[in-house]
Amino acid sequence: MKRVETGKKMKVALSSLVEGKNKFHFDSQKEEWLKTLVSELSSQGYKLQSPLVVTMELTKVEPEFYLQGMIDFSVEQNCSRCAENFPLIVNSTFELALAKIPSIKYRSAEVTEETEKLDVNFFEGNEIDLNPIVVEQFFLSIPYQSLCKVNCSGVCHQCGTNLNNKPCHCAEKTSLTPFSVLQEIKLFKQE
Ligand SMILES: [Zn+2]
Ligand SMILES: [Zn+2]
Repeated sequence: MKRVETGKKMKVALSSLVEGKNKFHFDSQKEEWLKTLVSELSSQGYKLQSPLVVTMELTKVEPEFYLQGMIDFSVEQNCSRCAENFPLIVNSTFELALAKIPSIKYRSAEVTEETEKLDVNFFEGNEIDLNPIVVEQFFLSIPYQSLCKVNCSGVCHQCGTNLNNKPCHCAEKTSLTPFSVLQEIKLFKQE
């Protein structure tokens, strides 16, 4: 299968695709374009703690293409509850349709409106660049807010203790005792 690797692009020539499934397996330890991508992500603050591995199956479904894939990596994340860094392990699957942008002479306002409603990725020319698809899936597979563990106890808002490591006693101090309730009633009456 002919693959053209030009810098950040990972282009697959349509003419090189076979009928049925076209399988791809990319590993940032081996593929230069993926290595470049990992270093770009790192400069944007995404510290990968494992190789970035992408497996894809591209199927011709005239006039479109169907892409199924899986993206695996581990990236350092900051827990949105306790603010500690932790490695988020991602094993995410995706599927999407790919369609060639119709040439201008066939493009009408109606067609454009129709196609905009569909969840289809478009490409131009006779090559599909897999790089932007991998980039998109990378970002989609990272949750907006991630927790170091499902039952993360977070941080005490009063003393700042990470409650995953040890408990604090702030909650006990502020909880109502019969005496404190009595005091509040008194204060209320004085007003
Ligand atoms: Zn946490
Ligand atoms: Zn506390």
